[in-house]
Amino acid sequence: MNIPLRPPHACAWMTVLSLLATTLGLVAADTEPRRIDPGPPGGPPSDALVLFDGHDLSQWHNDRGGEARWTVTDGILEVKPGTGNMFTKQEFGDCQLHVEWAAPAAVQGDGQGRGNSGVYLQGRYEIQVLDSYNNHTYADGHAGAFYGNFAPLVLPCRRPGEWQAYDIIFHPPKPGADGQSVIPGSFTVFFNGVLVQDHIPVKGATTASAYHGAVPKGPLMLQDHGHPVHYRNIWIRPL
Ligand code: MG
Repeated sequence: MNIPLRPPHACAWMTVLSLLATTLGLVAADTEPRRIDPGPPGGPPSDALVLFDGHDLSQWHNDRGGEARWTVTDGILEVKPGTGNMFTKQEFGDCQLHVEWAAPAAVQGDGQGRGNSGVYLQGRYEIQVLDSYNNHTYADGHAGAFYGNFAPLVLPCRRPGEWQAYDIIFHPPKPGADGQSVIPGSFTVFFNGVLVQDHIPVKGATTASAYHGAVPKGPLMLQDHGHPVHYRNIWIRPL
């Protein structure tokens, strides 16, 4: 059998290129995951974009593009009822999101009228924030629901006034090739460390969303539903 051999000068060049790639770290980067600092429990990890660290609202604007008007006191962001929803200045697509929130300690109202707010990915798809502790409402309206679409698997709620955490993995729906259909995205949600949404499909926007239509990126929105819900430690990792 006649096997063609590489000419000697080609072998020499491949060796030089291989050495150069190794020296520049191009080869090693393919073989081992990137190392990051996970930070303290609850994060933020070193590669996260911090959206609220307890100090200011520089990453946010209001629903008219002006300065965010919710209140920041002692490291806590509080919904200021009547001032409108808040949006991040940056837009996001696939992401991992961490949000901590607390319903008002002074319990008022019932059902959807008690400690209601919401975390809207891309200003469209709401993971419901609600004081669901000792409170009754429709299943897909509870805390941890993909509002109006999927009820949480369980309700691992803490008492009103206590901090609770959402860890959300979101992949947005994408426009189909025909420009009319939608390729579903997905939500996976942990509520206080407990799985409440298990890779559920995301198709259309939620009721009371700010925008409609499948897009690659959109702003994160926090909802003013008229109740002084608290937020802290909000960070995101684009995926
Ligand atoms: Mg809501």
